[in-house]
Amino acid sequence: MRADAVPFISNTFMIKDIWNDIRPKGQKATWHKLIWFPMHIPKHSLIVWMALQDRLPTRDRLQRMGISIDSVCVICNSLQETRNHLFSKCSIAACLWNSILNLNGMNPTNLAWEETVATAINSWKGKSLLTFILKIAWSAFIYTVWQERNQRIFQKRSRSAENLLNEIIDVVRFSLRGKNFNRLDSTNLNLCNVWGL
Ligand SMILES: [Zn+2]
Repeated sequence: MRADAVPFISNTFMIKDIWNDIRPKGQKATWHKLIWFPMHIPKHSLIVWMALQDRLPTRDRLQRMGISIDSVCVICNSLQETRNHLFSKCSIAACLWNSILNLNGMNPTNLAWEETVATAINSWKGKSLLTFILKIAWSAFIYTVWQERNQRIFQKRSRSAENLLNEIIDVVRFSLRGKNFNRLDSTNLNLCNVWGL
């Protein structure tokens, strides 16, 4: 009996450990809906999943691991590259995200990373076109900023904020093409016009 029970117990512990591991500290894992939603793009979701857990190899983390590296953000060249900086306070990130909000007819925000995540968890609910656009655009935004950061470091190539915004717009268009929305709804009609759906 005991021998049979051992694998079961260790599996249970393992599942619990993994669960605790992937769950952000002090927060319910409600953010899974921000990542695994219909129309999500797996390669984007993976980067968002890592960003939410602060597991991307940002320069502050690499330094803490003892890797000797310049910790300045390669996008703004002024502040330390941390997850929170790269995806919220960095000039290009703030500009990109505010442009996306603006396309959605929403007011610009200057929220910190945690505040954006909390807002997303609390407000991006239901199956409205706006919710889908916000989720797709946010994932694409995180992915695009991370990709841009990597290109600047490893390939010494850089794109403008406008180019990055156009890439995000293309992702939203591509993800929602051929989908049916209630275009009689004035909010949806507006979104369709602005995003070219
Ligand atoms: Zn920066």
